[in-house]
Amino acid sequence: MSPKNQDTDKMNKLIAQARHEQEQRDKSYRGQALKIFPPICSHCGREFSGKRLKELTVHHKDNNHENNPPDGSNWELLCLYCHDNEHTRLLKSHGYVGQQTGDDRQSRSTYKPFENLKALLGDEEPKDED
Ligand SMILES: [Zn+2]
Ligand SMILES: [Zn+2]
Repeated sequence: MSPKNQDTDKMNKLIAQARHEQEQRDKSYRGQALKIFPPICSHCGREFSGKRLKELTVHHKDNNHENNPPDGSNWELLCLYCHDNEHTRLLKSHGYVGQQTGDDRQSRSTYKPFENLKALLGDEEPKDED
């Protein structure tokens, strides 16, 4: 029972709590967005329901995840694939990705916000398009 162990314990609890709060916040704006908007990807127009609803994600138009106005004006529902594309496109338009070939930084800066989600979804490939 050294005080050091208690500190670590406290720290772990704080980290867990912070994570939990972040998750709650993510869930709550996603839940709100799904109440406001129909469950349709606003880029490819695919509709999601039931289990597949988790493939529909909330994009922040101004890229600020802290900006969550309750009227949904900063949100856009995008499927995982369109969302990924959207971020890649945004980065390109800001000149972060691939503008200068030969720059050794360029290929490392691709932003992949949904790697975790994709892992959660398993190896499922989007092969079910008719
Ligand atoms: Zn889509
Ligand atoms: Zn986004």
